[in-house]
Amino acid sequence: MRLQDSFDSILNLLFPKHCLFCKAKSDWYICKDCLKTIKPYKGNRCRICSTPIAATQKPAVCPICLSKKRYFNKGFSLFNYEEEQIKKLIEFIKFNDYPQLAAILFEFSGKIKSLDIFSNADFLIPVPMYKKDIRKRGYNQSAVIAKTLSKITKIPVHYDCLNKIKQTEKQVGLNYEKRTKNLSKAFEVGKKCFNKRYTVVLVDDVFTTGSTLNECAKTLLRKGIKSNFFTLATTPFKA
Ligand SMILES: [Zn+2]
Ligand SMILES: [Zn+2]
Repeated sequence: MRLQDSFDSILNLLFPKHCLFCKAKSDWYICKDCLKTIKPYKGNRCRICSTPIAATQKPAVCPICLSKKRYFNKGFSLFNYEEEQIKKLIEFIKFNDYPQLAAILFEFSGKIKSLDIFSNADFLIPVPMYKKDIRKRGYNQSAVIAKTLSKITKIPVHYDCLNKIKQTEKQVGLNYEKRTKNLSKAFEVGKKCFNKRYTVVLVDDVFTTGSTLNECAKTLLRKGIKSNFFTLATTPFKA
């Protein structure tokens, strides 16, 4: 391979010339026109877990937050996972080797900085993956999202506060109770973080029923750590 060719292929890796969404020429992974179609969710939300709910729902709390114990204080999800463009975005980040797309968060820096979930937070904590699973995927997308959020909020990421110590089955298709059972004793707090009275923000890709975030929050709270959470996207509540 000529030097110029290998230089070109490296450039191509760094700056893809085509939009992943529409294939048009683009200097970033998503072209300007497609970027315009990616918008934060603006409808009604559960005031505890941020999941979309009907405007008529009074109080503005989703059925899961109403009926189950939530161990996190409050959460926020930026996008609605039911939107086609958002689903595509998450798929690229999570399954198709494009964690760099988490940089989309910079488009919404102003909104993110204004969120109350970050006020008084000592650390951002990515929802951990089991070691073997990270090796398989090559990265933990939640850690990449947390790193990006850290650049925006200036809150440091703590990687050793929470570990996943058990490989769990896939959560797809399971209801809240089964998900919770599946995750039981899956996480562990790192010794350095015991009883430090931290307030942290857990970071994940998608909020579905909140069972994963709830289990993480429960594990942290047992060692005296309070938590909020941030996820890229949320799924509207389905009974
Ligand atoms: Zn495009
Ligand atoms: Zn809720």
